Order: sequence, then structure tokens, then C-alpha cells
Amino acid sequence: MNPKIALITGGSRGLGRNSAIKLAQRGVDVILTYRSQQAEAAAVVAEIEQLGRRAVAVPLDVAQVGGFPAFAVAVKAALKTHWQRERFDYLVNNAGIGVHAAFADTSEAQFDQLMNVHLKGPFFLTQALLPLLADGGRIINISSGLARFAVPGYAAYAAMKGGIEVLTRYQAKELGSRGIAVNTIAPGAIETDFGGGMVRDNAEVNAFLAAQTALGRVGVPDDIGGVIASLLADDNRWINAQRIEASGGMFL
Ligand code: NAP
Repeated sequence: MNPKIALITGGSRGLGRNSAIKLAQRGVDVILTYRSQQAEAAAVVAEIEQLGRRAVAVPLDVAQVGGFPAFAVAVKAALKTHWQRERFDYLVNNAGIGVHAAFADTSEAQFDQLMNVHLKGPFFLTQALLPLLADGGRIINISSGLARFAVPGYAAYAAMKGGIEVLTRYQAKELGSRGIAVNTIAPGAIETDFGGGMVRDNAEVNAFLAAQTALGRVGVPDDIGGVIASLLADDNRWINAQRIEASGGMFL
């Protein structure tokens, strides 16, 4: 049987990287994207190949909607070259950046950057990739715990994540006729490079967030990749249009 193929944006580092490897461990091949860290992306490809799966890294800036038609062409070519296939099975809209600014101080440029990366990008990227996504496939949009609870400094970021949660339900409604299930995973605070590595590297922030978490610590990438990989497994095919928070129980 043909292996499933997942396309993960921002697969070079952090949660996307961890998800790519967890999917490969479950027998899924991966197309991962990177924006700037080509060497990191190549290292993920090599790690997946060591697991006996196939992987390809393709450059993508999710903030540049004008580049999406060319990206779709590159994905189509990669599918043909590496898999002799026309379609992939799972899309994980993961790529993202953290910008920390109080509501009162957030500039239009910061707002636009967050909107482009976290809302407009995933909206039109998914649209551009629809012809390449198999009927019966799946989409996971990555949101954030910050769309449910409020931590000062994330008004614009969390507003975009709230938007992606609404978009998830609309996509589920409109793509259901093709058998495509669409869900949101909302991670809590995780130790990655995100936001300058603040959760990982700032001991005060780390301790504050750990104290707000029922399981008593902040998350690590290994807490998330498996959630994404298992949600994409066939056992979970009837889960649709849901927001699933993976935060260890933050701000209950
Ligand atoms: P990360 O470690 O900083 O990794 C970010 C990834 O996104 C990298 O692969 C990066 O590519 C890519 N990327 C960044 N800007 C991009 C752009 N404009 N176009 C295309 N790719 C871009 O971050 P992370 O923690 O894994 O975050 C992944 C997702 O989880 C994001 O959507 C974030 O909002 C969400 N999230 C994170 C946390 C957390 O605490 N870490 C919590 C909740 C939600 P390069 O390596 O090439 O730069």
C-alpha cells in the first residue's frame, strides 16, 4: 500500500520538526517546508530517511501569498519525482513566529506581520494546495492556548490564532464533501525557538507558566509532535472541526 504523505509548514525546527519525525516513525512520508533554515531542514530530511521513510524539504514563506502558485508547482513536482503521485494526504499549517507587544504598543507593522504569517498565509496556502490534497485527507491548523486564555503581550498574535480556529470550522464545513477532516491543535507554552526562545530560556517566564499548568511544567516539542501524528492516524478519522488543546492543562 502507498504510504501517506504529510505536508508540514515550518518543519525545520520546533513543533513542525517534531511532528515530521513522529509522523515518519508511524510510517508517514513527509514534505516539509522551511523559510530560512535550509541546513536544519536538510537535517530533518536526513533523520526521516534514517527512519526508512521518504522526505523532501521545499522553501516557503507563508507571509508571501504571491509565492503560493509557484510553491504548489514545486510540491506537485516533488510528488511526481519522489512518489510518482499526484496528491498528498495531510496538511499541517504549523509555520509561525512569536511577536510580543502590549496591546497599547502593537504597531500596524507587527499586526500585519502576524496576520500574514498566522492567518492570511494559512488561508490562501490551503486554498492553493486544495487541488493537491487527496479526497479523504486531513488538515490540522496550529493555534495556541493563547486563543482561549489571555496573557498580556499577545493580543495581535492570539487574535490571529482565534481566526484560524474559526477558519478551521468553516474549512471542515466546506471540505467535508471531499471527505477532508479539519481540526485545530492548540499547544500551550512549549520550549522551542519561538518568540526568541522565551519559554525555554527565560527562567522567570518558564516558572510562571509552569505554575499555571496542571501538570506542573511547560511543554517540550515531544509533547506536541505525537499529538499531531496520532490525530492524523486512521483511528481518529471521525474527529472533525474540533479544537484540541495540548497544554498540560494551562489556566484551568
Ligand atoms: P519555532 O521553533 O520558532 O519554529 C518556527 C518554524 O516556522 C520554523 O520551521 C520556521 O522556518 C518556520 N517559519 C517561521 N516564519 C515563517 C514564514 N514566514 N514562512 C514559512 N515558515 C516560517 O516555532 P514553534 O514553537 O515550533 O511554533 C510552531 C507553531 O506553533 C507556530 O504556529 C506557533 O504559533 C505555534 N505555537 C507555539 C507555541 C510555543 O510555545 N512554542 C505555543 C502555541 C503555539 P525556519 O526554520 O526556516 O526559520
